[in-house]
Amino acid sequence: MPSKEAVYLSKAAKAKAREKLDLLIVNANELVTLSGDNQKPRIGKQMLDIGIIRDGGLAIKDGRIVAVGKTRDVAKAFKAENVISAKGKIVLPGFVDPHTHLVFAGSREDEFQMRIEGASYMEILDAGGGILKTVRDTRKASVEKLVENGTETLNIMLEHGTTTVEAKSGYGLTTRDELKMLEVMQRLNQMHTVDLIPTIPGAHAVPPEFSNNPEGYVHLVTDEMLPKVAEKGAAEFCDVFCERGVFSLDQSRRILSAGKKLGLKPKLHADEMSPLGGAELAAGLGAVSADHALFSSDEGIKAMAERGVIATLLPAAAFSLMNGRYADARTMINLGAPIALATDFNPNCWIENQQLVIALACHFMKLTPAEAITAATINAAHAVSRAPEIGSLEVGKKADMIVLNVPNHKFLGYRFGSNLVDKVIKNGRLVIDTEASRSEFRLLEEQEI
Ligand SMILES: [Zn+2]
Repeated sequence: MPSKEAVYLSKAAKAKAREKLDLLIVNANELVTLSGDNQKPRIGKQMLDIGIIRDGGLAIKDGRIVAVGKTRDVAKAFKAENVISAKGKIVLPGFVDPHTHLVFAGSREDEFQMRIEGASYMEILDAGGGILKTVRDTRKASVEKLVENGTETLNIMLEHGTTTVEAKSGYGLTTRDELKMLEVMQRLNQMHTVDLIPTIPGAHAVPPEFSNNPEGYVHLVTDEMLPKVAEKGAAEFCDVFCERGVFSLDQSRRILSAGKKLGLKPKLHADEMSPLGGAELAAGLGAVSADHALFSSDEGIKAMAERGVIATLLPAAAFSLMNGRYADARTMINLGAPIALATDFNPNCWIENQQLVIALACHFMKLTPAEAITAATINAAHAVSRAPEIGSLEVGKKADMIVLNVPNHKFLGYRFGSNLVDKVIKNGRLVIDTEASRSEFRLLEEQEI
């Protein structure tokens, strides 16, 4: 077995070691690789081992990683015209954001004030606000307008180091409008640097047309919407808002089972506001993830651990609910349940930044920076079924990575509120370079003097 910090070369790379590379990164104070046995999401103490290589180097060719190791070894084996020095900085896999409601129209800042004044999320929803307000705005919006909104969001996410995003529709709530949202996502995925993974949460809320007949809406989802979506190959996952007053356990089970039969992998919004048994349902269905999990029981968490269901935790959503409650991440880790972190970007929780999610996870859920990094990279990649491709810096994987302007990984969570991203590399290409824009700014300042 090679030592942990040896240089790992693929066979193809060995043969062409002197060939020109796309990009070489050298002298990273910490190259945080997350390398290792990544067949399954990391649990328990595995979350602490983030595979740090000091004075690390990394070689990229054709958008893939071809070598990872100490700078002296990688630089000896490879030549490249484009070399990035990460001296004094750290390099990490690009963040994966495995739970977002990326596409919508309008905003809900008035409800923000109502929540500050004491109204609950469910009171606002019952009064026709919340998701239903966004449904009204999104139904009215054109595909072009939604593409424009989504592009703006993806730009900000990329600037903050996110290179892959799961995106849910769910603000259409008719077959036609859900398909419109999924079309927007497909266009965004084709146009934008950030990779997008589409999810259909047709059962995100009961639309006003069905307020007296929620069962009728469940039938519409299972019998018409999901089959149409599956037929078009417009989504990879199916999701449900399983919550008291929204969709019951039984309705959620029927919807996710129908989706599963059609090849749509199940995910659910579980136990966000009450202990309904969403974690148990997720385990029973063999869901990919159960998200939020603020009120999940220990039995439910144990069942998730046994089935390898990921708890995708959304501390920014808990923060925006303003009731001081966060998911019990330490118990989940102790019970061996895998956890991931996501923004839950949506009009009720308008956050594009996974760095701030890491900070919230450290402060309110007592994750260490290493655990939070694991949850926002390799485990987040597992939560969207992309771990063989992304989430760690290993030979053969996609060259999606970020350079952060901090001396070590413990600064993540510790330093918060400003953007730590220095550079973003997506598919082996430098797509964000804040150092360059800062020096342009300095140049401008000098000229003005
Ligand atoms: Zn959500």
